[in-house]
Amino acid sequence: MTANTIDGKALATIIKKDISEKIKSRIAQGYRPPGLAVILIGEDPASSIYVQNKRQACEQVGIHSVYHHLPTQIEENSLIELIHSLNQDEKIDGILLQLPLPKHIDADKVLEHIHPQKDVDGFHPYNLGRLAQRRPLLRPCTPYGVMMLLEHIKQIYKGKHAIIIGASNIVGRPMALELLIAGATVTVCHRFTHELSHYVKQADILISAVGKPGLIKGSWIKPGSTVVDVGFVRLLNGTITGDVEFDIAKEHAAWITPVPGGVGPMTVAMLLGNTLFAANPHRE
Ligand code: NAD
Repeated sequence: MTANTIDGKALATIIKKDISEKIKSRIAQGYRPPGLAVILIGEDPASSIYVQNKRQACEQVGIHSVYHHLPTQIEENSLIELIHSLNQDEKIDGILLQLPLPKHIDADKVLEHIHPQKDVDGFHPYNLGRLAQRRPLLRPCTPYGVMMLLEHIKQIYKGKHAIIIGASNIVGRPMALELLIAGATVTVCHRFTHELSHYVKQADILISAVGKPGLIKGSWIKPGSTVVDVGFVRLLNGTITGDVEFDIAKEHAAWITPVPGGVGPMTVAMLLGNTLFAANPHRE
């Protein structure tokens, strides 16, 4: 068996087109364009590229983005003050604080200052709590994007065994909550899990979000399963790769995401969708 590729880039393009149409019709009804404030601290090259991509995507669909590039030495209080002023700004519907933050800033504390209705990354405890209660509002972009990919390929997930590798606040944990809502039986593995292969071999749906190339051996993949590789690592030679041994895994799986071109473009598309949702005057 050779797996079908799940083309995240193509699906993200369709979603962005839809968002762009919705923004056009919103403006035609007399509303202003949705506004996203993007905050980047320091000069980390990977973060700078992510921010540039997100701002470019905003421009493509008609979201007004405002960029705040702050020095690495910025004090936590000054950052919180900026967030409070953006919370009050009527032209700003979403606030994105690019992670990771410098070590002297407590990211969890700062993220909690973003107003939950402007929390387009979905990291605020309020939005995570809503997801845990099966009443999601603003959903964390990467797991939300994975759910869109899974819906797109129209497999049945109710009662299927989903194995998630990685338990971070931004990917693994909210991913588990999303898959529970979808009716899957969910197991979460992490750095202290013994015998990872034992779990991976049972996965009807495998989501790997670790960031360790080759961690998931292709031979462990259950025949006919769906494999989503969230891992995103740039090797020294510049190649981008995920966690899964793609070439071997694709001989066992029925569906598999490539890296790049799988989950990454969907994360950005979900950010745009969340910003439009946050701007919707008729939202809950
Ligand atoms: P993280 O470092 O916060 O979390 C990694 C998780 O992996 C932890 O829960 C840890 O316990 C687990 N882990 C580490 N070693 C393990 C092992 N040997 N076996 C099992 N589990 C192990 O990382 P993160 O922010 O969740 O990101 C994970 C990966 O996903 C990274 O490669 C990141 O670049 C990528 N990512 C991609 C996107 C995207 O849009 N494509 C978005 C977010 C993150």
